[in-house]
Amino acid sequence: MTDSTAFLPLSVPVEIALPDIRRWIDGNAGIPGVWTFTGAESGPHLAITALVHGNEIAGAHVLDRWLRDGVRPARGRLSLAFCNLAAFRRFDPADPTATRFVDEDLNRCWSEADLDMRRISSELRRARELRPLLDTVDVLLDLHSMLWPSDPLILAGQTEKAARLGVAIGVPPVIVSDAGHAGGRRMIDYARFADPATDATAVLVEAGAHWQDATVGRMNLAAARVLRHLGMARPGDPLPPDPPALPAPRRAIVTRTITAASRDFAFVREFRGGEVIPARNTLIALDGEDEIRTPHDDCLLVMPTPMVPRGHTAVRLARLLP
Ligand SMILES: [Zn+2]
Repeated sequence: MTDSTAFLPLSVPVEIALPDIRRWIDGNAGIPGVWTFTGAESGPHLAITALVHGNEIAGAHVLDRWLRDGVRPARGRLSLAFCNLAAFRRFDPADPTATRFVDEDLNRCWSEADLDMRRISSELRRARELRPLLDTVDVLLDLHSMLWPSDPLILAGQTEKAARLGVAIGVPPVIVSDAGHAGGRRMIDYARFADPATDATAVLVEAGAHWQDATVGRMNLAAARVLRHLGMARPGDPLPPDPPALPAPRRAIVTRTITAASRDFAFVREFRGGEVIPARNTLIALDGEDEIRTPHDDCLLVMPTPMVPRGHTAVRLARLLP
């Protein structure tokens, strides 16, 4: 959605400090904000990305910590990328939703058509700059956080390989397969990852509320778990250990993506992301004249967005797999 103060929940406190990433801006890979390290043994190329949305600073804390701690891959290649630097530079804790992007959403720019055409924007310029990196990535973990109240989740796009990666990461423990947004392709939907015939795989972690410590912790654990899953973690690196009892991961498949068709889309009550509506045909929202109802029993609400602008995703409805 287009964040602006007009759509801000009444109080969304910024509880984490603004990370100081000035020393990481130059990068070491020929692309600003991108750090890449090669292990002694051969192996996959893992990229962990943060700040695709310029105001989601929790992910920048994780990358900053890994860079300061000198986390390196035991094998393969590890890239850490601060993505929307131009938007992040404008971040203001007094108006924290204003800096999701500069001109357009960097997470809707990843179709070949958008990347190849001549249209210019701050975000398209950055996507084109990052594209050569993405073209060599085998596994992508894209770190995000959320404005509206929701249980954390992993978004896996449409491929089975991504859902399996999400289950292997297992933090957060809900893995949602979805078709993305009508408004444009996400980075995890970039052709290289979205093609079921390739091995390259990408997932997006919605790790919790923006600007909260718990969100940083969950991102850090998810990132450590993907590194360990790929056999790339070095024993001595200060990565968070697994907590004693992780909940078993559950998968869900989006059955319907609800895009607001009118200017006055409204939910019939407050819904929290992660809520399960028991009965089929339950009215959840009105979109102008149209009623939005649950298409099946036990319908999982994925990231409901109140006061959504027309043409943007209002909620995704999903079926939990047994
Ligand atoms: Zn985001």
